[in-house]
Amino acid sequence: MNPRLNRRDFLKLAGALPLGYATSQAARSLGLPNLMQQDGRKNVLVLVFDAWSAYNISLHGYQRETMPNLARLAERAVVYHNHFSGSNFTSSGTASLLTGTLPWTHRALRGGDDVAQDFVSRSIFSAFKDYYRITYTHNGWANTLLEQFQADIDELVPWKSLFLRSYDGFIHSLFKNDDDSASVAWTRNMNVKQDGYSYSLFLSHLYGELQKNRYADLKQTFPRGIPSTGDVGSEFLLESAIDWTGSRLPRIPQPFVGYFHFLPPHGPYNAPMDYIGHFENDNLRPLDKPQDLFTARVPYSALLKRRAEYDEFILYVDREFGRLFDQLESAGLLQNTVIALTTDHGEMNERGISGHSTNALYQPVIRVPLLIFDPDQPTRVDVHTPTSAVDLLPTLLHLTGQPIPDWTEGVILPPYAEPTPGRSVYAVKASKNGQFDPLAHASVALVKDNHKLIYYFGYQERGVDELVQLYDIQADPEEMTDLSTSQKNVSTQMLDELKTKLEEVNKPYIK
Ligand SMILES: [Zn+2]
Repeated sequence: MNPRLNRRDFLKLAGALPLGYATSQAARSLGLPNLMQQDGRKNVLVLVFDAWSAYNISLHGYQRETMPNLARLAERAVVYHNHFSGSNFTSSGTASLLTGTLPWTHRALRGGDDVAQDFVSRSIFSAFKDYYRITYTHNGWANTLLEQFQADIDELVPWKSLFLRSYDGFIHSLFKNDDDSASVAWTRNMNVKQDGYSYSLFLSHLYGELQKNRYADLKQTFPRGIPSTGDVGSEFLLESAIDWTGSRLPRIPQPFVGYFHFLPPHGPYNAPMDYIGHFENDNLRPLDKPQDLFTARVPYSALLKRRAEYDEFILYVDREFGRLFDQLESAGLLQNTVIALTTDHGEMNERGISGHSTNALYQPVIRVPLLIFDPDQPTRVDVHTPTSAVDLLPTLLHLTGQPIPDWTEGVILPPYAEPTPGRSVYAVKASKNGQFDPLAHASVALVKDNHKLIYYFGYQERGVDELVQLYDIQADPEEMTDLSTSQKNVSTQMLDELKTKLEEVNKPYIK
């Protein structure tokens, strides 16, 4: 520690810190007054774990005990068993959560897309307009969407700020008990060239060495690799993001609406040491399902291994979700906060396909968890009717006594409103379609009661102009028997409905 540093230096430097830091830890360290207010309205917290399939969750009937903490906490929640994401990948699925509309409406159709201009001011953040709005994601594509909504966000935590190579991710964990001085050191290290704090050359070497050692330790904890987005320099610890969230939320003004979108269990499935091999000897032999039109020809044995690695990574998510829940409960926040726990889409390890970069819309990639924890509904309720990601926004507004905007395509979820009999729930994947062109190259699933129709169209590259599949997802949840021929009536009726819907959503884009 440099002896020339004093509190005035620190104040000066605090002004030069990145926004996310300056508004949070700096304020706390300096003992600024707590801005918290409470006017009796409940806070809303949406927690998203990316690429998290209901198929692999013990609570939803999976044979492996992947989520013991979730099973325990579900006793206090509304649990949705037939809940569907808006799509099967991040941009489309996240935009559906944030706007309460389907991909063919918000138009974030391709990886990294923004939403259509009309929706920049139509999101969960604009809908909760007099709330304190805070958000964070590890996921770059989700972050692109958050940045688009930033005019309606009070605190957009920079996405890389919770990565290991940033202050919050690395220096903070190294110097837990010496937050102030470490932050100054970091600022100097970062500003060596710009601001003339060049006497920290020694520090930058020290930092380099410490970082090397810390990475070596972490590599032992995470033998398959430190969790990351897959890009160089993108390593992060879910623990740090959870701790940051758990310590930040009790300190912000209330009522707040928070959207936190963590990357695990999204691949790479880098589980910590404690969980590696956890399911090794359980002899689970999943169905060897037929190869699909969109198969990537991943062999059964490799899929089995991938599935075990994914399940291990879910154990890690379960542990960290449990910790966050406990932290928020200890802070007293659960008495006046509604928590929605969900994901942007699922994941699959079957039919020669591993992951979710696929055009297929089988249950594992679109049937996803949703649990709502509401202090006014403290006992478990199970909902089995089909529900959609687009229903979350209107439901959260309803639960906080606010008007529901006319642009959302969702409805208030049961048990807060009567379920609509025979409601149509859609999921849409059109990542090869032009963003503002009529849908001509896409996959659409339509779920109605116990039936699910999947319509693939425009896949000339696979030699397919149109393909229709029909499953009874109640009697045949593994989707082994295509009923499109044997139940021709159902299939024709659902396909007609779907095509009528497509005409309607395409209309604004026909030139
Ligand atoms: Zn995702």
